[in-house]
Amino acid sequence: AKGKAICGFCITEPDAGSDVASARTVAVKKGEKYVLSGSKIFITNGTIADFLLVFALTNPDNPIHKRHSIFILDTSVSGFEADKIKGKMGIRASDTAEISLHDVEVPVGNLVGVEGEGFKQLMSFFNVTRPFVAAQGVGVAQGALEKIISHVRERKQFGKPLAEFEFIQFKVAELATEIEAARNLYMKAALAVDKGKSDPLLSSMAKWYAGEVGVKASNWAVQLHGGYGYIREYGVEKFYRDAKIVEIYEGAKEIEKLLIGRKLLRV
Ligand SMILES: Cc1cc2nc3c(=O)[nH]c(=O)nc-3n(C[C@H](O)[C@H](O)[C@H](O)COP(=O)(O)OP(=O)(O)OC[C@H]3O[C@@H](n4cnc5c(N)ncnc54)[C@H](O)[C@@H]3O)c2cc1C
Repeated sequence: AKGKAICGFCITEPDAGSDVASARTVAVKKGEKYVLSGSKIFITNGTIADFLLVFALTNPDNPIHKRHSIFILDTSVSGFEADKIKGKMGIRASDTAEISLHDVEVPVGNLVGVEGEGFKQLMSFFNVTRPFVAAQGVGVAQGALEKIISHVRERKQFGKPLAEFEFIQFKVAELATEIEAARNLYMKAALAVDKGKSDPLLSSMAKWYAGEVGVKASNWAVQLHGGYGYIREYGVEKFYRDAKIVEIYEGAKEIEKLLIGRKLLRV
C-alpha cells in the first residue's frame, strides 16, 4: 500500500444506524454484475474516496445475520452520488457525506468474500478498527490534559497558581490515571489484533472507555480554563467538540456496552 487511494466504508443508512443488520441498500445480481441501489449517510471520506466498501442486502430471505454482503465500489462509476454534510460539531477536517446509489453496477469480482457473509465480516472489521478509534479518544484526552497542566501552572487566582489548589491536583491525578488506563486498554486490544487474534470484548471495552475518558478530559479542560476555555482563540473548545464523536461512531457507546454485557452474560 502506497497510501495513494482514499477509501471509506458505507454501512450506516438513514433508517439503519446501530441496527446495521436492518440496512436496506440492495445489491441484485444480474449476470456478471451486481446492481446497487440505496442511500448511505455519515460516510467518512464519502466525497473524496477513490473507492468505497458498501454493505448491502443480497439475501433478504436468509436468517438476519446472513442477509448482507460487502462490495468494493469504484466511485467513478455512473449512478454514484456523494453530497458533503456540512455543519459538524467537531472533526471538521474529516470529510463526511451522504451517498446515493442509483442502479450502480459493480463486477461480481468486487464482492468481498462470500455472499451473505457481510455481517460477520463487518463484526470482524469493527474488532480491528475499534482500537484505532479508541486511540483517537486517548489522543484527544491526552491533549486536553496537557492543555490543563500548562494552564493551571500559569493561571493565578487568590494569589497563587491554580495548580497549588488541592482540588486541581486531584483532578489532574484522576484524569491522568484514567487516560493511562484507557491507553493500556486500547494497547492490549491492539496487541491482540497484531497477533491475529482480535478480541471483540477488549476492542469494545477500549473504544467505549476511551470515548468516555476523552469526553471527560476535554470537558474538564474547558472548565479549568474558565471563560478562556469557551473562546475558540484559546484552542480548548476544539478538544471538547472533537472528543464526542468517539462515543458515537464505529458503534455508539451503548452498543459497545451491549456487546460487552451480552458476551459476558452469554445472552
Ligand atoms: C462524523 C461521523 C462520521 C461517521 N462515519 C461513518 C462511516 O464512515 N461509515 C458509516 O457507515 N457510518 C459512519 N458514521 C455513522 C455512525 O457510525 C452512526 O451515527 C452510529 O453508528 C449511530 O447510528 P445512528 O446515528 O443511526 O444512531 P441510532 O442508532 O439511532 O442511535 C441513537 C442512540 O440510541 C442508542 N441506541 C441504539 N440502539 C440501542 C439499544 N439497543 N440499546 C441502547 N441504546 C441504543 C445509540 O447508542 C445512540 O446513543 C459516522 C457518523 C458521524 C457523525
